[in-house]
Amino acid sequence: PEVREAMLPYLEGAYGNPSGGYRFGKDSRKAVEAARERVASLAGAKAEEIVFTSCGTESNNSAFYSAVETYPDRKHLVTTRAEHSAVVNVVEYLEATHGYEVDWVPVDEGGWVDVDAMEGVVRPGETALVSLMWANNETGVLGPVKEAAGICEEAGVLFHTDAVQAMGKVPVSVAACGAHYLSISGHKMHAPKGVGALVVSERVRFHATMIGGGQEGGRRSGTENVASIVGMGKAAEVMERAMAEGSMERVKELRDRFEGRILGAIEGTGINGDIERRLPNTTNFFFEGVDAEGLLILLDNDDVCCSPGSACSTGSFEPSRVITAMGYDTERGRSSVRFSLSMFSTEGEIDEAVKLIAAAARKLRVARPVRGSRVVGGGRA
Ligand code: PLP
Repeated sequence: PEVREAMLPYLEGAYGNPSGGYRFGKDSRKAVEAARERVASLAGAKAEEIVFTSCGTESNNSAFYSAVETYPDRKHLVTTRAEHSAVVNVVEYLEATHGYEVDWVPVDEGGWVDVDAMEGVVRPGETALVSLMWANNETGVLGPVKEAAGICEEAGVLFHTDAVQAMGKVPVSVAACGAHYLSISGHKMHAPKGVGALVVSERVRFHATMIGGGQEGGRRSGTENVASIVGMGKAAEVMERAMAEGSMERVKELRDRFEGRILGAIEGTGINGDIERRLPNTTNFFFEGVDAEGLLILLDNDDVCCSPGSACSTGSFEPSRVITAMGYDTERGRSSVRFSLSMFSTEGEIDEAVKLIAAAARKLRVARPVRGSRVVGGGRA
């Protein structure tokens, strides 16, 4: 509600273009700059390091573009198969069309990235960019970002982290971790969809993808989405306050209660991913013998929203790439589902959701009986 309130004036009377020299425009400019300060504060960055974009995908693409433009002779990239498609697909594109060589660093059963393996493949003078997410979007598992940034610093290599899922849920600091680029998306932190930011460390030169009128200090041309940027600024302020007040500890307790009840209510169920090193709000279950797509459809009828690993924007559900990157088979990749909580989630919602999920899983298992033994995994079952 606070975000909506903050945005409303910029959707109504305060409609000036922030690049305009008239008073109307200057009011919008002030609002954009105030939002920049707030987003910078949540990201542990300087206001001048924030570049507003249209989404997390644009932020990730821009980081890659800037890095490869910075070092056109470096033809090597390092990342993992557990990254969001807004990284994996960019890397595969650069590999397929621009001759980049790629090292895909393995992740273990818990989704944890092997930093030693990363250190072994980073090539001083040859690697254009290393990209490692702060928190995984399917499992919530955190990445060893500080260690990875340190390896890159040592090797003189640029480092990007996709912090889209982490912002507002765990402390994030560009200054403390030493990343050169950090991606943010509005809708993962209670701001609107269709707005994002890329933090560009003042220590690196930035090469823009969007060239035009020179907005955002020439780093991202195009008239700013003022209302959404204002919303993101307010969301950053709200989330910083909420974290300081312990909201995320409460979310974690609720998430743990949810997990305990699901595991108690439905047999042949477990949690994917390291259960310690992860976000407080995310959980990813596998339900043996249950099709994730079927579960999504049944639960949708009950107003419970969940997400099987891969997007269904193409109309077909593939097994989760993240779960298979963790070494599990496609069967597990097809029966894994993510649920996300927020600081607005309640105990009542959790308990109701558990009943509905248990009923839906039973229904799907009757349709397709479980074969073989009970599956146990993720450190808890
Ligand atoms: N990175 C991660 C980790 C995400 O979870 C998402 C969105 O789900 C994105 C990038 C893409 O963000 P956007 O949808 O704002 O483009």
